[in-house]
Amino acid sequence: MIEHGWYSKARKVLSPNYNTRPHTGDISLLVIHNISLPPGEFGGDFVERFFLNSLPASEHPYFEQISELQVSAHCFIRRDGELVQFVPFDKRAWHAGRSVFQGREDCNDFSVGIELEGTDTEPYTEQQYQGLAELTLSLLQAFPLITPERIVGHSDIAPSRKTDPGPAFDWGKYRSLL
Ligand SMILES: [Zn+2]
Repeated sequence: MIEHGWYSKARKVLSPNYNTRPHTGDISLLVIHNISLPPGEFGGDFVERFFLNSLPASEHPYFEQISELQVSAHCFIRRDGELVQFVPFDKRAWHAGRSVFQGREDCNDFSVGIELEGTDTEPYTEQQYQGLAELTLSLLQAFPLITPERIVGHSDIAPSRKTDPGPAFDWGKYRSLL
C-alpha cells in the first residue's frame, strides 16, 4: 500500500537527492534500473550510502569516479527482496538523467525509478521479481497514469548511455506477474 508517497513494505531511508516535480500529479512512467556497488558485488551497504551522498571514495577505485554524483532512485530492491525507499513517489528523484520517452525529455519529471540490485548479465532473484511485481501493482493502483505500456528500462529512455536493467532482466516473467 502507498500512503503519502511511501510504500508500506519498504524500509524508509530519506535521500537528499530529489526535488519537486514540475507538474504535480503527473506520475506516468515507471523506469527499471540495476545497480551494484562495487559493480558486480552484492549485499553490502554501498548503494544505500551512494544514494545518501556518503559513499567512501577511498574504499574502491570505482567509488572515486562516482562519489560526487548526486543521484537516487525512489526504491531499491536487494537480492533477498528487501525493499528500501529513498524518495517519496510524489517527489522527483534523480535517477534517469538525460532521457526521453515518446518524445518527452527529462523523464525524472514524470517517472518513478526502481533499482534492482544486480548487473545486466546476472539473473535476478525470485524474491526480486516478487517484490518488484508487488510494488508495481501498488504503483499502478496509486498512480493510474502509469499503465503497463508505460513501464520501461533505463536503456529504453537513454539508449546511448545506459544498458540497465540489461538482458538478464526477464520482461516476460515480470509482466506475467502483473
Ligand atoms: Zn539506470
